[in-house]
Amino acid sequence: MVRALLMLGVVALAACESPWNVEMESPIRDIPEDYHRWFQEVGMCMGVPERATDARFAGIQWYSAIAIYNAQDDQHAVALWTEPHRITLRHDQAHDERVVKHELVHDFLSDGNHPAPYFKRCAGV
Ligand SMILES: [Zn+2]
Repeated sequence: MVRALLMLGVVALAACESPWNVEMESPIRDIPEDYHRWFQEVGMCMGVPERATDARFAGIQWYSAIAIYNAQDDQHAVALWTEPHRITLRHDQAHDERVVKHELVHDFLSDGNHPAPYFKRCAGV
């Protein structure tokens, strides 16, 4: 399983065998309208608007968590993408456009890596 984590100010990666933990994760039941708009904007920005379908958007599982952390070295992350279409947002970052768009770039790429130039260009981080 591939997991990608968005750090505070720094972008980092972690594989599932890494010691990243998600605390009090729960599904986001009322998906904000902003997420749908940001999804379409990211698809457009990445040059794949035809893939920004309502069906694909509906396939994304959104979660909120109190904390995303690495107990081993006390690092914290603000968001996490897990294949195939799972996005976990730290609760206080759930309406941050850059954080949500960053995870949406991962979802469009189906990749936990950070190939240039998509993240900077389409999410700002
Ligand atoms: Zn990332």
